[in-house]
Amino acid sequence: MKLWNRNQRMNKALEIAVSIVYPRRCAICDEIVVPMGHLICDECRNRPAFVSGASCMKCGKPLRDSEQEYCADCMRTVHVFDRGYALFQYRSISGSLYRFKYMGRKEYADYYADEIVRKFGSMLRSLHPDALVPVPMYAAKERKRGYNQAEVLARAIGRRMEVPVETKVISRIRNTVPMKQLSETERRNNLKKAFNIARNDVKLLTIIVVDDIYTTGSTADEISREFRRAGVKHIYFLSLAIGQTS
Ligand SMILES: [Zn+2]
Ligand SMILES: [Zn+2]
Repeated sequence: MKLWNRNQRMNKALEIAVSIVYPRRCAICDEIVVPMGHLICDECRNRPAFVSGASCMKCGKPLRDSEQEYCADCMRTVHVFDRGYALFQYRSISGSLYRFKYMGRKEYADYYADEIVRKFGSMLRSLHPDALVPVPMYAAKERKRGYNQAEVLARAIGRRMEVPVETKVISRIRNTVPMKQLSETERRNNLKKAFNIARNDVKLLTIIVVDDIYTTGSTADEISREFRRAGVKHIYFLSLAIGQTS
């Protein structure tokens, strides 16, 4: 016990030393955060728009019409996953997400994960997930970027919730074209057989798939299809940000 406390103290000291050499940047505006120990600056607190009010019962997208139960996308498409949840409205946080994904700002995950756990923590716990599964990146692409942002996010959430993160169970076997350049049909074709269950002993009953962005759900469906085939019973999808319904 004594040793553990000592390690904890050392970790804290190390954290402070690191923050002096590499001051933490605000996950919203990217300026250096004052005071030390905060994850975003006070002025940025109200800048990201959370998904609030009426949202789609299937994918979690905010709805313009509170009388509706499902968004236009979910009325057109039968999704393979059970239910999706999303924290932010994409447009309000797009700059932050871009830096998190392409510019090495992995530290933003602490802020994102804190907010996800604050909003969804008890609900996610009530699902009794066996694992969090980040949407995998194509291996060569991940090597080039140095990290998979979905995995960085899943690990930050997993640490806070004490849920294991599974990265070996599924892999991306094809390098797909960036989705934003494609139409909905092209998106679905683009993803055909893009993922592969990498282990034949999947013993997971309930999983939460984690990604940074949810748009139409085609990625979520392709992954969920593989997991259904492997016998996973309950598949939820958690995204940091979600687009407005089309
Ligand atoms: Zn800021
Ligand atoms: Zn929906």
